[in-house]
Amino acid sequence: MSTHPNRRPGPCASCGIIVPAQAGTLSRTPHGRWNVHCPDHPPPAASGGQRRDDQPPPAEVRYTGTETECVALVEALKLTPHMQVLQVSDPAPRREEPGRHSVYARVRIDPRLLAAVAREEAQQ
Ligand SMILES: [Zn+2]
Repeated sequence: MSTHPNRRPGPCASCGIIVPAQAGTLSRTPHGRWNVHCPDHPPPAASGGQRRDDQPPPAEVRYTGTETECVALVEALKLTPHMQVLQVSDPAPRREEPGRHSVYARVRIDPRLLAAVAREEAQQ
């Protein structure tokens, strides 16, 4: 599969860093969307071709608060070990709650973390 430079700036699918236009590469997800990859995290197809189609879809979260709170919560999520923020929506005003916004994020949780959580639950 060939890779393309990103024409528009966007967050790296692996680490979330904003990749300036033309500085990274694009890959197409199985769902037909485009992911941006920083030079440190090339797309799987470019780094050896492991298929990821067998992975379950990522978890999804919604944060609600002021626009700034939404951004702060997403930033906190990006700093969380073993959680990879794949996509984040722009904070959208909530029609039913004036002054409040919601932001949606898709998060890939490391299977090793999930296994550790499952073990803890089993012990309780
Ligand atoms: Zn990256």
